[in-house]
Amino acid sequence: MRFLDLPAQQARIADDLRRRINVVLEHCQFILGPEVAELERQLAAFCGAAQCVAVSSGTDALQIALMAEGVGRGDAVFLPAFTYTATAEVPLLLGATPVFCDVDPRTFQISPASLADRIATVRAGGRLRPRAIIGVDLFGQPADWPRLREIAAREGMFLLDDCAQSFGASLQRERLGRAADATAISFFPSKPLGAYGDGGALLTEDAARADLYRSLRSHGEGTTRYDVLRTGMNGRLDTLQAAVLLSKLTVFEEELAARDRIARSYDAALRDVVQVPARVPDSTSAWAIYAILLRNGETRSRLQEALQAAGVPTAIYYPRPLHHQPAYRDAHDGAALPVAEDLATRILALPIHPDLSDADIALVCAAVRANA
Ligand SMILES: *Cc1c(COP(=O)(O)O)cnc(C)c1O
Repeated sequence: MRFLDLPAQQARIADDLRRRINVVLEHCQFILGPEVAELERQLAAFCGAAQCVAVSSGTDALQIALMAEGVGRGDAVFLPAFTYTATAEVPLLLGATPVFCDVDPRTFQISPASLADRIATVRAGGRLRPRAIIGVDLFGQPADWPRLREIAAREGMFLLDDCAQSFGASLQRERLGRAADATAISFFPSKPLGAYGDGGALLTEDAARADLYRSLRSHGEGTTRYDVLRTGMNGRLDTLQAAVLLSKLTVFEEELAARDRIARSYDAALRDVVQVPARVPDSTSAWAIYAILLRNGETRSRLQEALQAAGVPTAIYYPRPLHHQPAYRDAHDGAALPVAEDLATRILALPIHPDLSDADIALVCAAVRANA
C-alpha cells in the first residue's frame, strides 16, 4: 500500500495523458502554450471564478498575490501556525511580518477568535500595520470564510485563500475559489489535483488583479515583453504541466468522490477508537489528508510503528507548529498558541488516495483498531 499512489492514477489516464503530452511535443510552445490558456479556462469554470492565472507553484501564487497588493516592510500578515511552511515564508520574503494565529481544536482551521485577538494585539502595539490575512483551507476542508470575510472587511485588510490543499472542496454549496479576494492553489504532485512537477494558479473575481498577476508572473511585463512596468518574477506555468493537469481534470470529480467515500468508511470504522476528523459545517472536503488524533504523543508513536509493521504507511502533518520552527522563531512575538502546539504532538494522517482498494481500506481500519 502506498501513502499516495501516483502509478495507479497514471495507469487510469495513460492514453489520454500520452496523447496530450504528444500534442505539446509537436507544437513545442513549452511556456504559456495553448494548454495553459485552456487550463485557466477550465479551472475558472470548475469553481465559477471570473479569472484564473496559472503560475509556477502554490508558493509563487501566494507571493504574486501579496506582491500585487504591495505587501512589504512594516506590514503584518496574519496566518495560522498550523500549516505548511510556504504560507509563512512568503510574507517574510517580501519583508513583511507573519503573525501566527491559533487554530480550531476540532476542525484544525484558523480560529477567527484567535485572529481577531492577534489583530487587536498588533494594532495596540503600534509597530506593524495589519495588512493581510491568509486563511488556509487545511487538509482539504474550507476555513471559516464567512467569519474571515467579516474580520477582513471590518479591519480593511486583504484576504487571501491559501487553497493549496483544498481545490475541489466547497462551502455552502459553492466551490472554493471565490471565498476571498484571491485564491491560491497548488499542483504539487501530492495535492488533490497534482501535476508531474511544480505548478499553481490564482483565482479572483477582479479583472484588474488578474492583469497584475499576469504581469508579475512574467517579470512585470506590460503589453509587450520588453515593456517592464514593475518588479516581477519568473512565475509561469509550463505547458507540459498544463497538459498533465487537463488530463487529470477529466477524472478529478470521480477522485473527489472516491476520497470522500474512503473518509466515510474510516469514520464509521474508527470513530469509537480514535478522534476522527470533525467536518466543517455545510461543506465538502477535497480530502488531501485524513488526520486522526491520538491521546498523546506516546500513543501516536506506538500506533505509527504498529501500522508500519502491518504495511500501512502514515505521515505526520505537522510535527511542529510554524511559530516553533527555527526559521520563524525570530519573527514570532512569543504568544502561546496552545491548540497548534497540542495538535502537533498527537495528529496522524492515514492514506486516502482514490486508488485504495476495499482490501486496503479494511487493512487500515483493522490495524488502527488493533493498535490505537
Ligand atoms: C503545498 C502547500 C503550499 C505550497 O505549494 P507549492 O506548490 O508546493 O509551492 C502552500 N500552502 C499550503 C498550505 C500547502 O499545503
